[in-house]
Amino acid sequence: MDRSARRRRADGAAGPTLDEGNMLRLPFSLHAVLRLVKTVAFVVLVAPWVVLALARAAFVKVDKFVRMLLSVRNALDDHAVCPAGHRAGLHGVFECRSCGALFAGYAFAECPVCRESCGFIQCEHCGLAIRNPLL
Ligand SMILES: [Zn+2]
Ligand SMILES: [Zn+2]
Repeated sequence: MDRSARRRRADGAAGPTLDEGNMLRLPFSLHAVLRLVKTVAFVVLVAPWVVLALARAAFVKVDKFVRMLLSVRNALDDHAVCPAGHRAGLHGVFECRSCGALFAGYAFAECPVCRESCGFIQCEHCGLAIRNPLL
């Protein structure tokens, strides 16, 4: 509205515009100050959260990638070490804790019947839990 009023005057239109009679019209410098305050408020109040959200999203992506690399490495390992230091085989015949089905293969693979993956296996020597490295 302000710009159109100025444009009309620059074109040489005679007579006052509606804006010239408005006492609440702000001078140009105050508009610039308000625009600056809005910009500073955005930079101070909103931008840090945007940066934090982007950083968190990047961290989640990197974390998933590292976990995927570790899971590949762990899937290729044929043994895991229990908290007491025993070597436990990760390939063989295992019983699904969810449905009870027996399956052959990797200990932490999905059960072919119920598609569940167990969170731990027991050490075959001492019975301590060995956590699923993929979780
Ligand atoms: Zn199962
Ligand atoms: Zn053990």
